[in-house]
Amino acid sequence: MVRRTSFVDPDHIRDRLVSLIRIPSVTGQEDAAIAEIANWLQRLDAEIDYWNAGIAALQRDPRYPGHEVERAWAPVVVGVLGGNQPGPTVLLTGHIDVVPPGDYTKWSHEPFSGITRGDRVYGCGATDMKSGLISAMAAFEALAEAGRNFPGRILFAAAPAEEDSGLGTLAAIRGGWNADACIVPEPTVRDGVPELVIAHAGAMSLKVEIPGQVRARQPAPTGRERARPLLDRLPGHARTSAASTRPRTIR
Ligand SMILES: [Zn+2]
Repeated sequence: MVRRTSFVDPDHIRDRLVSLIRIPSVTGQEDAAIAEIANWLQRLDAEIDYWNAGIAALQRDPRYPGHEVERAWAPVVVGVLGGNQPGPTVLLTGHIDVVPPGDYTKWSHEPFSGITRGDRVYGCGATDMKSGLISAMAAFEALAEAGRNFPGRILFAAAPAEEDSGLGTLAAIRGGWNADACIVPEPTVRDGVPELVIAHAGAMSLKVEIPGQVRARQPAPTGRERARPLLDRLPGHARTSAASTRPRTIR
């Protein structure tokens, strides 16, 4: 039997990761990175579903999670491998979008350079989560190239809009892609130790308008300070989640 790990080339995975980091895919600007992944998948003997639809229908969806970054489109690509026996469908998936790099002067290297130091690759989104996405894709490729001697189907999906909502994953689901099990190689660490978790809470993005009067104050109150009365009224877990999110503009 051919070992599937023999189809996994660490240099190839690193090169792919560097290439992907060099495509800035800040939330709302994922088209080029999704197109590149579609390009890579098209070289495999796999079914590809690649679309870039407007989000109007998603905004009417009862599961619409909201979004923060203005966008008109949500590009998604899905690769499909059918095994040679009936069985469950397993989905490998991750998000392509990254948070904005922020203040460039705080970076020791250009954030979208994908520079390599020793056995580490640095860049905006390297950890969260282009490395995981490329690893999942490598597994998908290995299964594609090692023959179809497995039951069921393997899906690989790259989605946009995770950092501000999860809208991209909803787009993939509404595109008809569901699975019996799903593996998301999102970096998860507890107390400094990488951790495998079996489920995760969902999230929603809300736009809340709080009326009030402007009063002179130095420095100006942050959005969180303004929202404190509202946050204090949330249930315990929601309050914790809201308080732990990165600062957002709350108008
Ligand atoms: Zn992530």
